[in-house]
Amino acid sequence: QSLTDDVDSGAATMPLPQSDERRWSDTSAYARKKILQSWIQLPNGNWELGKILSTSGEESVISLPEGKVIKVISETLVPANPDILDGVDDLMQLSYLNEPSVLYNLNYRYNQDMIYTKAGPVLVAVNPFKEVPLYGNRYIEAYRKKSNESPHVYAIADTAIREMIRDEVNQSIIISGESGAGKTETAKIAMQYLAALGGGSGIEYEILKTNPILEAFGNAKTLRNDNSSRFGKLIEIHFSESGKISGAQIQTFLLEKSRVVQCAEGERSYHIFYQLCAGASPALREKLNLTSAHEYKYLGQSNCYSINGVDDAERFHTVKEALDIVHVSKEDQESVFAMLAAVLWLGNVSFTVIDNENHVEPVADESLSTVAKLIGCNINELTLTLSKRNMRVRNDTIVQKLTLPQAIDARDALAKSIYSCLFDWLVEQINKSLAVGKRRTGRSISILDIYGFESFDKNSFEQFCINYANERLQQHFNRHLFKLEQEEYIQDGIDWTRVDFEDNQNCLSLFEKKPLGLLSLLDEESTFPNGTDLTLANKLKQHLQSNSCFRGDKGKLFTVVHYAGEVTYETTGFLEKNRDLLHSDSIQLLSSCSCLLPQAFASSMLIQSEKPVVGPLYKAGGADSQRLSVATKFKSQLFQLMQRLGNTTPHFIRCIKPNNIQSPGVYEQGLVLQQLRCCGVLEVVRISRSGFPTRMSHQKFSRRYGFLLVENIADRDPLSVSVAILHQFNILPEMYQVGYTKLFFRTGQIGVLEDTRNRT
Ligand code: ATP
Ligand code: MG
Repeated sequence: QSLTDDVDSGAATMPLPQSDERRWSDTSAYARKKILQSWIQLPNGNWELGKILSTSGEESVISLPEGKVIKVISETLVPANPDILDGVDDLMQLSYLNEPSVLYNLNYRYNQDMIYTKAGPVLVAVNPFKEVPLYGNRYIEAYRKKSNESPHVYAIADTAIREMIRDEVNQSIIISGESGAGKTETAKIAMQYLAALGGGSGIEYEILKTNPILEAFGNAKTLRNDNSSRFGKLIEIHFSESGKISGAQIQTFLLEKSRVVQCAEGERSYHIFYQLCAGASPALREKLNLTSAHEYKYLGQSNCYSINGVDDAERFHTVKEALDIVHVSKEDQESVFAMLAAVLWLGNVSFTVIDNENHVEPVADESLSTVAKLIGCNINELTLTLSKRNMRVRNDTIVQKLTLPQAIDARDALAKSIYSCLFDWLVEQINKSLAVGKRRTGRSISILDIYGFESFDKNSFEQFCINYANERLQQHFNRHLFKLEQEEYIQDGIDWTRVDFEDNQNCLSLFEKKPLGLLSLLDEESTFPNGTDLTLANKLKQHLQSNSCFRGDKGKLFTVVHYAGEVTYETTGFLEKNRDLLHSDSIQLLSSCSCLLPQAFASSMLIQSEKPVVGPLYKAGGADSQRLSVATKFKSQLFQLMQRLGNTTPHFIRCIKPNNIQSPGVYEQGLVLQQLRCCGVLEVVRISRSGFPTRMSHQKFSRRYGFLLVENIADRDPLSVSVAILHQFNILPEMYQVGYTKLFFRTGQIGVLEDTRNRT
């Protein structure tokens, strides 16, 4: 990399035509003399801005801000933009689109509470971790009237509405980013704008109220985010022909069920449990035999009961009000709370050994009787479900007694099922309330708030699914961007031969190929009774070693080369989580007890499987294996999602978390950079770099640089003036194209003119 190579290192993967590469460095040699400032990477990895005092041969002398003067190898320098470009609101306006310049620009804006910045068609949102004065009616009005045009979620939502009406095409707002980056807040801000502009019927109010409900049941405090969404969500908001909101529909993805029965130190289970324990009225407490959160084992394992600045009791009332508004009857609400209490009490059920083979039975105490009462079954039934298992062997049913670990598993599986059925049921009730009538004539705007790419020290099945989803979304993103780029070139009459770009198709195939892909092999191993996490790992290594995106590691480890980086997964728990077995006895229990569960259970099975599931499955002894695996269900949900999004005009928002301590004002370069790489913002930059990313109208160009002309032709038409400038500055023909209305430049070209202009 040379001084003039203002490319982030990753751009090397973008193959440019040979000739361009040569020319590029030629002109850059010219540009080199004109560059005044440059980025120097410090030993800690951060970049600092320095002034280039001189360059001789291979070395340059740089002065740093504190007055220090250092000598560095010219090749390590990365050119910085002229000061006039400080804090531009679209990264594409930067003459030098390198990583430090992008980081600097976002930081510059962030320090002034300008948390939104465009990267071409993408909106970048840096989480302020404090209230910023950018929202509310005054702002909504300003964006509606277009009197404020700085980048904003409102502006994105506004464009979506306008394009929906103008083009008669459904729109989508796709929000991504890591945990704690601000996706859910951003989604709410977008909904707020849509509700304000499309409101009137009152339904918009209901739509906004779905947020506190879904957050209570689907969000939890984690180490990364006090209000972390543990499910993915797509909300499709429908508009009538007159542009008014007529209804909405919510689809959820992959709720993290395991959190109900266990969570890590310092984290919490779902908010609603604590809210219920803190906020229930005395009458409700008595009815549900409710005690304090501290008394429940499921809530006690992680040593964390409260969240700074959050009043769970107060939130409970907000949730109840919201449930009223989306028409969940008081009676149903009470049933929901009863199910929650049942889950909590289930966690307190303990077991005692009953024979000399270590078989166990639940202790007949308050916990057991309360669960039975709350879910409406008799104690014997519940005892049986938690101590025996019916197994089908050929045509016989044999009864197997459970050992302690098996019984605990059965108990936890039941708790998880009750909770996830409840969640699905709730979403269904909300959807009924928000349903658009049969005459669905209008268009829609969908908002997708889905977990971003995850890479931890230990990565399990959840990360595996999440990252797979992100590969799909990334492909959608890439393809869309390329299409946009091409359209703009074609519109301005520019010859644009498609530049190859890094596609992630290879990685997607690694997941999806049949029969030898990650998902197929996982499913196959899941159906083998003797399959273990280790046999799974071995199988993957045996069949996938030749794929360039796969690497087998030691034991249960394997690595996938994702677009956003390598992730090493450990197969521990993969099979169990993928099978997600609920034994036939539990199924029987859930479908026959007298509470809302049978109904919830039936509809949740419907939601989760592609084909309607009919009777026999619920009957005792029904084949467990008829249930689809979790990975398969997720894959089909994802395909449906992509199909839906495929018919929309997408708008992308990338949320960035500037620090890991959830604090305002702290901007960690390394952390931000890694996210910019992962969420494709630098990809946008790379993609544009491979073309002619700097664009200026003939008028603007001639006005801005015309005075630099030696020959006085300033009175001529803008196009002639522009061409004269290009000639005078010796800008090579390969470095620009003249379109019908605009001039298109390769990166860095305007920087040269700009520097000259500043010196004049
Ligand atoms: P997860 O993937 O864990 O669900 P997320 O990306 O949805 O994370 P959010 O819950 O939206 O993250 O944001 C985390 C926190 O950051 C919020 O609770 C809020 O405190 C703060 N935050 C995010 N966006 C904004 C904003 N625009 N203004 C003020 N605070 C914000
Ligand atoms: Mg969230």
